[in-house]
Amino acid sequence: MLKALRRAKAFYKINPTLGSCPSCKSAGTLKRSHSRNAYEKMLNKITIYKMYRCKSCGWRGSLKTIAITSTSFLILLLYLTLISGAALIKYQILKRLL
Ligand SMILES: [Zn+2]
Repeated sequence: MLKALRRAKAFYKINPTLGSCPSCKSAGTLKRSHSRNAYEKMLNKITIYKMYRCKSCGWRGSLKTIAITSTSFLILLLYLTLISGAALIKYQILKRLL
């Protein structure tokens, strides 16, 4: 378990251009698409979704660029526990000093 956690990453970066189109299911036809309006620009900058276009069928839409697995939540929980533990220790030290 610990060995698996050490090797695991919180988030896995995926490349949708290597995958298949959600509409026509053909592989290797997706390409990044320019954002057309303010909503799509915001989507590109803030979220993990990016705009893609299919070269063969013309499908255009947003796809995830980061995969979140069940291990991700476990690792995030581990990090949150470590952060809150460190904060608690700092709080106790500062409380005694001041
Ligand atoms: Zn397609």
